[in-house]
Amino acid sequence: MRWGDKRYHSLDYELKKIFGQKVLKLSLNGNFTCPNRDGTIGTKGCIFCGEKGSGEFAAPAKLSISDQIQQQKKFLSKKWTANKYIAYFQSFTNTYAPVEQLKQKYKEALSSPDIVGLAIATRPDCLPEETLDLLEELNQTTYLWIELGLQTIHERTAKFIRRGYDMACFENAIAELKKRNIPVVAHLIFGLPYETEQDMLESVQYIATTGIQGIKIHLLHILKDTDLYRFYQKQPFPLLTQEKYISLIVNALEILPPEMIIHRLTGDGARDLLFAPKWSTNKKAVLNGIQHELKKRNTYQGIRHIGR
Ligand code: SF4
Repeated sequence: MRWGDKRYHSLDYELKKIFGQKVLKLSLNGNFTCPNRDGTIGTKGCIFCGEKGSGEFAAPAKLSISDQIQQQKKFLSKKWTANKYIAYFQSFTNTYAPVEQLKQKYKEALSSPDIVGLAIATRPDCLPEETLDLLEELNQTTYLWIELGLQTIHERTAKFIRRGYDMACFENAIAELKKRNIPVVAHLIFGLPYETEQDMLESVQYIATTGIQGIKIHLLHILKDTDLYRFYQKQPFPLLTQEKYISLIVNALEILPPEMIIHRLTGDGARDLLFAPKWSTNKKAVLNGIQHELKKRNTYQGIRHIGR
């Protein structure tokens, strides 16, 4: 056991190591849109994306950033005790606005003394030079990471899900962020239509070699208000079982480098919107299952990472 009580390098472990205590993330809605929905790249968005732009748990956009922070703290205090927080701009594309507007929103979030860091979820095609400069500046004064939704490295799946950018775009974005020492977290989705186990692990293997700092792995959720839901009604495709998902996650952890921070291993689908797979609502069972499988195999993150 090298990361507290886990066999993988969790974000919780990393934040406790850096800040000496538990740090919670507050999910915010900066009231942005997305070029994949406003007509710049596409109008329909990614096939799985719900009307809240993958921010189903974020605070309401009608509140100011400061009020959203208060609301999220209050909400999380029912479950957790913490004095330090990361402001997480989660909904839609959080660098998709003029740089002055971005600056004002990020600074408002950071003005609260207990906000110790900033996490910004965006697309690799929404990082123009002036935005990169702003991020570089922020990275020098706060704990920052940028999240990029890759989901898969396979072009046929990327087209099917209407991601709207290619691998060259992703590679260029991580090179630009790396040049400025800005930490990057990539998102992958397991269970995308017609992807095999090998396809998914090839995406993980790619991430393992990029030199980026973190990963979020999600289970594909079919949310009721999405095009994916409508597609599934007409052409059902195989969904991952809990056992298969757990086994895949353990295989993925084995090939990721030990220093890579694991930000997420389960997806969060709003219960009232989730059509399938329903087993994913029991997050605790999934996380316990992963721990159990790691122990059973007597394995841990990085054991099969190439280059070790
Ligand atoms: S990039 Fe994000 S916000 Fe935009 S359509 Fe895709 S999932 Fe939704």
